[in-house]
Amino acid sequence: MAKNFLTFFKMIDYIYAILIWSSVKLVCPPSIAPAVFGGILLGYVMYDCTHYYLHHGQPKSDVPKNLKKYHLNHHYRVQSLGFGITSPFWDKVFGTVPPPSKVDAKRR
Ligand SMILES: [Zn+2]
Repeated sequence: MAKNFLTFFKMIDYIYAILIWSSVKLVCPPSIAPAVFGGILLGYVMYDCTHYYLHHGQPKSDVPKNLKKYHLNHHYRVQSLGFGITSPFWDKVFGTVPPPSKVDAKRR
């Protein structure tokens, strides 16, 4: 997988940003709309940095190691499950947690 495709601000993202900014302006008072949009943008950048790190970082502690394993499992073992990048929370909510691999099942 090419490194360029893992990071933010592809052309489509600018279109999304305009749509999100327009939506925020509709919903929020003008005095807080820039702050709300900035928060959304920061959250997206953090999400994207996490995704990049999971692909290219070498985590040493257990939490990021497990996240990396969980995410690479999504890309290389079960593409239709395990969509969570920063946590498996929404996979648990939507029932898309992948089953343990045969190797993991033997370790348990
Ligand atoms: Zn990925």
